Amino acid sequence: MILQIDDLVKHYGPVRAVDGLSLEIGQGEVLGLVGESGSGKSTVGRCVLRLTEPTSGAIRLDGRDITHLSRRRLRPLRRDMHIVFQDPYSSLNPRFTIEQIVGEPLLRHQAATRLEVGGRVAAMLEKVGLRPETRGRFPHELSGGQRQRVGLARALILGPKLVVADEPVSALDVSVQASVLNLINDLQRDLGFSCLFITHDLSVVEFLADRIAVMYLGRIVESGPTAEIFAEPRHPYTQALLSAAPVPDPVRQRRRRRIVLGGDVPSPVDPPAGCRFHTRCPLAYDACRTVEPELTDPRGGGHPAACHLVTADRVPDAASPR
Ligand code: SF4
Repeated sequence: MILQIDDLVKHYGPVRAVDGLSLEIGQGEVLGLVGESGSGKSTVGRCVLRLTEPTSGAIRLDGRDITHLSRRRLRPLRRDMHIVFQDPYSSLNPRFTIEQIVGEPLLRHQAATRLEVGGRVAAMLEKVGLRPETRGRFPHELSGGQRQRVGLARALILGPKLVVADEPVSALDVSVQASVLNLINDLQRDLGFSCLFITHDLSVVEFLADRIAVMYLGRIVESGPTAEIFAEPRHPYTQALLSAAPVPDPVRQRRRRRIVLGGDVPSPVDPPAGCRFHTRCPLAYDACRTVEPELTDPRGGGHPAACHLVTADRVPDAASPR
């Protein structure tokens, strides 16, 4: 396993952003972590990279416990993990040229001499589909899609084992989103890094992720192989997310029953008792308000869900409430 997270908790004062979450990412695997805003998914990414300190739980990178490593001891491991942010503009220093931005990790980790940096940057820019002359440009001279390619080049130049991609395409125009997603897919296959891909949009990870984990109010409510999640979403929340995702086929789109969830995600300061999803679930019944469902896999297939109504022979259907 490249990444192992056990019972991760991150509270910001009274806010229980992540509240007991476990997941694993294998060598060369892409895990899509999906949830609405406020689900805690970005906090998971920030804890993994130790950009924020976990409250409790354990994080292992390639077998090594990094949960409480000091900054100094963490520094060499920063070569192995990198983040791609949502907004490429605010994450690139506007006063630096693209060569300085992409080459900086090489110099910081003494992975190349000053003489070598130019060549390494040029090769990396080519890999992400940018022309060599981009090296001398500044971030404001590039389009949003080009800037996100620069962000990718910077994240990948040290050959990390793990890339955390936090909504890497959601700030881009729809027309460029697909090309950047295809690029990430190609780079991942080519370079073989593992990836935690964080997104609010299930359709974004359909072709990219090997597995998907769906988050709601700081916990995972369902996880499994991507094809399985799309073929048989087991948790009512996943069913609702899927019903809202656009489908390219207009016939399928018309046939589909949309599940409209009432209200917003409740406050993570005081999550609902019982099943955290019960205030919005069309199938909620008495037990849901008091008994918290465990993440279990009665139907098998490495596809657990946290819902009382998932049993060995039955999957609930949130589109047909009783
Ligand atoms: Fe809905 Fe109850 Fe299942 Fe929670 S446990 S998802 S409230 S049916």
